[in-house]
Amino acid sequence: MSHARLVDRYRRVHRDLRVSLTDRCSLRCTYCMPADGVPWLKSATLLSTDELVRLTRVAVDLGVREVRLTGGEPLLRPDVVDVVGELAAIETPDGPLDLSLTTNALRLPALAAPLRDAGLNRVNVSLDTLQRARFMELTRRDRLADTLAGIEAARAVGFSPVKLNALIMRGVNDDEIVDLVDFAVERGLQMRFIEHMPLDGGHTWRREEMVTAEEILAAVTERYTLEPLGHDGTAPAERFRIVGTEATVGVIASVTRKFCDRCDRVRLTADGQFRNCLFAHEESDLRTLLREGADDARLAEAMVACVARKLPGHGIDDPSFVQPSRPMSAIGG
Ligand code: SAM
Ligand code: SF4
Repeated sequence: MSHARLVDRYRRVHRDLRVSLTDRCSLRCTYCMPADGVPWLKSATLLSTDELVRLTRVAVDLGVREVRLTGGEPLLRPDVVDVVGELAAIETPDGPLDLSLTTNALRLPALAAPLRDAGLNRVNVSLDTLQRARFMELTRRDRLADTLAGIEAARAVGFSPVKLNALIMRGVNDDEIVDLVDFAVERGLQMRFIEHMPLDGGHTWRREEMVTAEEILAAVTERYTLEPLGHDGTAPAERFRIVGTEATVGVIASVTRKFCDRCDRVRLTADGQFRNCLFAHEESDLRTLLREGADDARLAEAMVACVARKLPGHGIDDPSFVQPSRPMSAIGG
């Protein structure tokens, strides 16, 4: 085993790897992709399952203990159940890898049971609205019923907790904050609200239009009393218990309450680029190294070097901030 670790200059230890399984998606959320999509990654550049499992093993050897599968829409990858099975079989010195997935849930009715059986531990589902017409506007697809069926399927097969993520936008769905909390509480799901970040393929983000965590929490407290629970370890969500219930609500305030100083995340894109931050402008090209015959030690060295170059924070508030050229859907959110 290697003795190197994914530690950066600010002594942050990286244990959480986000793996993007594809940059394609079945929805076109306005905050994520333009209507026509984005230029897709070329299929020859996409990692095979063997390649992505090998890179994950190298990362585990460097201290990664948690892997979250994402995209694009990860359930569009035809062999997603096999990918989960192979990753779930990776043993770490601390036990099995903690394996979770973020999805729009459209394919969960068919895949929830096979994914659970293959070893997936948890799912997060993105749900920004409970209104059909609004879902159509927001995602440019008439698929709310499928997302809701997917959430039911995740509950029915026993994933726990099922977390719901909603991205709140002014004048779009900010009047649904309490409705979304009610929906989650009634079903024993954990509701989390995400601040809009400047990562959309259409470059439409405007700071002044963003709904802040403070505004979101103010809306929730019009109906519920919240008791702060703080952050769960290095997890990005700040959590609150709804007093009188077992339910919790979270806010992921990447912009107004940034948590970069506790970040333990690194990312592998579907085309084999290793990234030390969602907002990074540099990537480490592991695909080329791997296809040129690099051994595990060389791949590990490239990961360690990439983490060593990690900046202290995302710099969204810096006047010189420039959005990364790769959109969220091609990085892996
Ligand atoms: N397709 C899956 C889904 O929607 O859950 C996984 C990929 S998606 C990029 C992962 C998460 O990123 C979703 O919860 C989505 O709401 C969030 N997201 C996308 N664009 C974002 C943005 N510009 N700012 C903040 N979150 C964003
Ligand atoms: Fe697809 Fe997820 Fe992006 Fe929506 S947020 S377009 S579901 S990748």
